[in-house]
Amino acid sequence: MHVARKRFGQNFLHDAHIIQKIGQSTGVTAKDHVVEIGPGRGALTDVLLATGARVTAIELDRDLLPILRTQFFNQPNFTVLEGDALKFDFSTLATPETPIKLVGNLPYNISTPLIFHLLEQRQHIIDMHFMLQKEVVDRLCAEPGTKAYSKLTVMTQYYCRPTWLFNVPPGAFSPQPKVDSAIVRLVPRPAAELRANDTAALSRLVRTAFSQRRKTLRNNLKNDYDLGMLEVVGIDPGIRPEVLSVDDFVHLSNALTEPTS
Ligand code: SAM
Repeated sequence: MHVARKRFGQNFLHDAHIIQKIGQSTGVTAKDHVVEIGPGRGALTDVLLATGARVTAIELDRDLLPILRTQFFNQPNFTVLEGDALKFDFSTLATPETPIKLVGNLPYNISTPLIFHLLEQRQHIIDMHFMLQKEVVDRLCAEPGTKAYSKLTVMTQYYCRPTWLFNVPPGAFSPQPKVDSAIVRLVPRPAAELRANDTAALSRLVRTAFSQRRKTLRNNLKNDYDLGMLEVVGIDPGIRPEVLSVDDFVHLSNALTEPTS
């Protein structure tokens, strides 16, 4: 018997109604190649395979691999790989004709670095559906000017359109997590919508702007940037970082990285 491991963020879904609801919400069809992050004991894998899709699962806990291979031995569309999703190169599974759809009830202990890793790999991905701690979903979907608006919000919304789908209570899992959960959909934006001249510079600017969120932009940026440029692009240095929209950050980053003649 496999015992749930805390260090791998293992909270297995056992509520059949919720499992079906998540499966339906993904909109996966037989034409898709789905990559499932953290299949665990196969609760979601089962509903994904029932759609007829090809499913490749990436699981870090090697003790779960024989369980999954036994459970789905008669499913030719199923492959499980032992691996760490944080380091995984998703381009190895996608083709230009069949970009991948990602699905996962993610390990909450690594959700933020995992999302940043997936944003870097977005060219190979057409759609993502994830279960996350509700607080993280709130941050992904946050509007400017709210408490949940953060670096994670700005970089996710720059690369993707996020949609909160529904909440999932702790009772749907075993063992039960101490937090509420939610399902979020992230759809990568087409390259033509990405207007930053230098995404590394954008990421640096957003990180620096949010370094102390209770301070003004002036205070956060003064050591690293030419503050005169804020006024040039019409941004008041006396405001707090969470007031700036994603477009404001892109506009400011482009202005700051433009070569001066
Ligand atoms: N999908 C299953 C379910 O819904 O019942 C399990 C979800 S559980 C919250 C998270 C799963 O991710 C576990 O199976 C865990 O072993 C796996 N996992 C943890 N860290 C991982 C990583 N870095 N890469 C891939 N899988 C990981």
